Amino acid sequence: QPSGSGKTPKSSFSKQDLQHYEDSDFSWSKEVQVNLCNIFQLSKFRPLQRAAINLSMSGKDLFLVMPTGRGKSLCYQLPALCSKGFTLVIAPLVSLMEDQLMYLQSVNVPAVTLNASSSKEDSKRILAGMTDKNSPFKLLYVTPEKIAKSKLLMSKLEKAFNMGLLARIAVDEVHCCSQWGHDFRPDYKLLGILKRQFPNVPLIGLTATATSNVLKDCQKILCVQEPVTLTAPFNRPNLYYEVRFKDNEDCTDQIASLIRGRYKNQSGIVYVFSQKDAEVVATELQKRDIVAQPYHANMEPSHKSLVHQRWSSKKIQVVVATVAFGMGIDKADVRFVIHHTISKSIENYYQESGRAGRDDSPADCIVFFGFMDIFRISTMVVMENTGQQKLHNMVAYCQNVDRCRRAMMAIHFDEVWNDEECNEMCDVCRHGNDYITMDITQHARDVLHIVELASSMDEKLTPLKVCDAWLGKGPAKQRKMIKLTSLSRLEVESVIIHLLLHGYFSEDFSFTPYTTHFYLKLGRKAALLKNSGHSITMKMRRRGTSQSTVKKVSESSGEKSRSKVEGKRPAESGDQKSAKKVKPLP
Ligand code: ADP
Ligand code: MG
Ligand code: ZN
Repeated sequence: QPSGSGKTPKSSFSKQDLQHYEDSDFSWSKEVQVNLCNIFQLSKFRPLQRAAINLSMSGKDLFLVMPTGRGKSLCYQLPALCSKGFTLVIAPLVSLMEDQLMYLQSVNVPAVTLNASSSKEDSKRILAGMTDKNSPFKLLYVTPEKIAKSKLLMSKLEKAFNMGLLARIAVDEVHCCSQWGHDFRPDYKLLGILKRQFPNVPLIGLTATATSNVLKDCQKILCVQEPVTLTAPFNRPNLYYEVRFKDNEDCTDQIASLIRGRYKNQSGIVYVFSQKDAEVVATELQKRDIVAQPYHANMEPSHKSLVHQRWSSKKIQVVVATVAFGMGIDKADVRFVIHHTISKSIENYYQESGRAGRDDSPADCIVFFGFMDIFRISTMVVMENTGQQKLHNMVAYCQNVDRCRRAMMAIHFDEVWNDEECNEMCDVCRHGNDYITMDITQHARDVLHIVELASSMDEKLTPLKVCDAWLGKGPAKQRKMIKLTSLSRLEVESVIIHLLLHGYFSEDFSFTPYTTHFYLKLGRKAALLKNSGHSITMKMRRRGTSQSTVKKVSESSGEKSRSKVEGKRPAESGDQKSAKKVKPLP
């Protein structure tokens, strides 16, 4: 099964090939340049835009991976203007299409959309336009559902294709094809029909986040033979990444004091887990004199756009939002994105935190890492095939104490990475590697024994119950049978997380009609601990572990002095492969 950090099989597309497509002496180059300036009113291309346009104009199939806000749309809108007929654009959300149509209208590019809410007359006019030699529109936006469900649309596409009027197919948010992406949408799975029916119509797939595994999956699903993949560097040098330990009681206080202090008068987003959390946290911030408003899927559309609008115009300082606050947000001067709860995957985290600092000025991305949140998310993603693995990757990112946060993301996105490029713009690089490597073998045996014992008595334990039992806070009869720990609660939690991430524990879900419960059971590696030679080590923050009885294996201290360790959870020794120190292609 594919993993989040598999190897990229670099395509046969070389640096020289890229150079060739960066040129501006193609037969269409003049027209492209004129349209860039006169229609789109832009003075010059951003990195990779010209190459993407030339590749697509040359008839190549293309996957374009570029961070949100860098201008992917131009890479099919401009070719659409310079080609005969029209370009079919598949996009996941009607609201996204409407934003684009509004923009295109403002620059006088004829574009239309067909979706579930199109009127009969509009649909009729648009379907007729598809086979009109005079091409009344250059772009046709549709939802994937429309392709999957409307035979009429398919028949018109076929007719347009036969007339040479189907110039190009653009699949926006192409990662939605793959369940390995962060936003799988079942209707995207059916889009392979397009390439099968119209094999020589060039396809361009666009996304902000996709690992090579996701792209390979998309390629298969879309039936694209040999696409060229262009990847813009994912790194956002102006973003500072930080992980803080979450103490539920004062998490909101910490967030409030950051907003009132460091981020005074600056715009930001606080991401939370649920609609209820959005309401609660927003109210808590309001009580502390912060102009905050909640935002979640269960609000009236008009209310949602009001909040969005007032935040964009700085009348609201902070939006306390669920992930529903996402696509279509393009405010440039967001100075902080704080996660009150961890994201469900690194892809999601990159995407959500990436809404900070679009203007290229410094901005902060802080995530509060809480023990119980892991299991809330775990049960939420229980239906997703890859949900647990993706969550584990996110948790590993938070547990990490010794790798640059950027390096961890780079590895995840299959990028080559040089640690120096971080410029101390993450907490690990800034504060030095001040951690201790600990032998936790005996602790692991002790805590696994608790779960084993419970299971022998036909009892299941939640992570919280395991913690309590081990710390001696469980029922008295239990206390007699187990070896209590002298670790702190924080350390206990970290050890349990470590054992879960490394397969000594695993998830045991149980469904009731109302909710899903999370229990810990022994994992596939638990049996290894019966073997006396087996040992487990993990890295922990030095400060957080000074009183502990954990056996030290080795110490590693960064040269840089650290001012203060605030709520840093002891952390994880990574099984991470180290990133190659090679610069990426431009
Ligand atoms: P993406 O789809 O990659 O998230 P968009 O295509 O929506 O990004 O573009 C984001 C913004 O960047 C738009 O406002 C667009 O006009 C702007 N933009 C695109 N290309 C350029 C360029 N070459 N120069 C300046 N601005 C650009
Ligand atoms: Mg886009
Ligand atoms: Zn770093």
